[in-house]
Amino acid sequence: MLAMNYRGPKRVRIDEKPMPEIRHPEDAIVRVTRSCICGSDLHLYNGNVPDTRVGTTFGHEFIGEIVEVGSEVTKVKIGDMVLVPFNISCGKCHFCRQGLFGNCHESNPEATAVGAIYGYSHTAGGYNGGQAEYVRVPYANVGPTVIPEGMDPDDAVLLTDVVPTGYQAAEMGGIQKGDTVVVFGAGPIGIMAAKCSWLFGAGRVIIIDQYDYRLEFAKNYSQCEAYNFKTDMDDPVLFIKKITDWMGADVVIDAVGAEAAGDAMQTITGRKLLLQAGSATALHWAINSVKKGGIVSIVGVYGPTDNLVPIGNVLNKGLTIRANQASVKRLLPRLIEHVLNGVIEPKKLITHRIPLEEIADGYRIFSAKLDNCIKPVLIP
Ligand code: NAD
Ligand code: ZN
Repeated sequence: MLAMNYRGPKRVRIDEKPMPEIRHPEDAIVRVTRSCICGSDLHLYNGNVPDTRVGTTFGHEFIGEIVEVGSEVTKVKIGDMVLVPFNISCGKCHFCRQGLFGNCHESNPEATAVGAIYGYSHTAGGYNGGQAEYVRVPYANVGPTVIPEGMDPDDAVLLTDVVPTGYQAAEMGGIQKGDTVVVFGAGPIGIMAAKCSWLFGAGRVIIIDQYDYRLEFAKNYSQCEAYNFKTDMDDPVLFIKKITDWMGADVVIDAVGAEAAGDAMQTITGRKLLLQAGSATALHWAINSVKKGGIVSIVGVYGPTDNLVPIGNVLNKGLTIRANQASVKRLLPRLIEHVLNGVIEPKKLITHRIPLEEIADGYRIFSAKLDNCIKPVLIP
């Protein structure tokens, strides 16, 4: 079969690889029909996630047809069209039983900090992902969810990560009626977080990025205010204070993550702003622009040992920091309803359809934010 093959930082290609096989009675094999590239894949692509091994196939956002099942699979059958949460969860461990499907212990017992994720390095279990024609799906009685009749496959594929992650970002923010919510990052995740903030009762939603085309999109899609941190302001923290009566935002969401933040740092320090070198990341901005006693919700992904947190400000302001991988399975029932009822229209985010064979172009375009790219989907 054809599958994405990681060759080292910024080098991905398509190769012929052996077909995946059933290795455990609860496994299934899925023939992939759509598979996305995610901002999380860019951390791997840029070589910033430890133990990302050459030869791995990435891809944690995919849907497809069940073509083979192990002897203990009862919840899905051959021929079912399924969407597969990006977390690999056993459904039975201490964490899964609490709905923390992103923190499953069974699927990645060696890791202390993270559950397993398809195609996300050996720190996340070392499973191959779905940027391929076929993929092995472990714990097939837990993750794969039959795509409801009438649901557009483009909507279904975004229910594997983007929608639940954006929704959980807003949920973790503990938004109260009328709250002002600031979202850093207008990628698919930030756009979805801004959109979902309204569902929790936000009174004002503001999104901040560096790409006007993404901000324009967010303004329309998420019905929020949108500002460019490179051209609309000098200091994002002062800017947010100014537009919130000097109180700060009630809730700030970090939908940026590690090296994207570093990119902004270079920009800002290059412009000799008041911020000290090393302090101009989205996470710093979030902590410094939320009001005292406020909540910072982090869904942007950081490496296990990244330490960018001005912890003294967290202490002195009495902040609550909440962060996690999204727990896709926990959220799916209500989000499937929202999609079927038109409350959330995920497929509008898809700007690019790229044949799997042209995956290197897909990574290049999405990574450099070329051609007004918001979300690319790969078609095997
Ligand atoms: P993306 O690369 O499309 O978007 C990131 C955006 O952040 C870009 O538009 C970039 O211009 C912007 N940005 C960079 N520095 C910034 C700054 N200092 N302030 C404001 N904006 C800034 O990525 P995406 O697919 O939207 O993913 C966003 C983040 O969410 C990534 O870190 C990804 O790993 C993470 N993620 C987390 C989960 C989870 O479960 N927690 C799931 C999916 C994605
Ligand atoms: Zn993803």
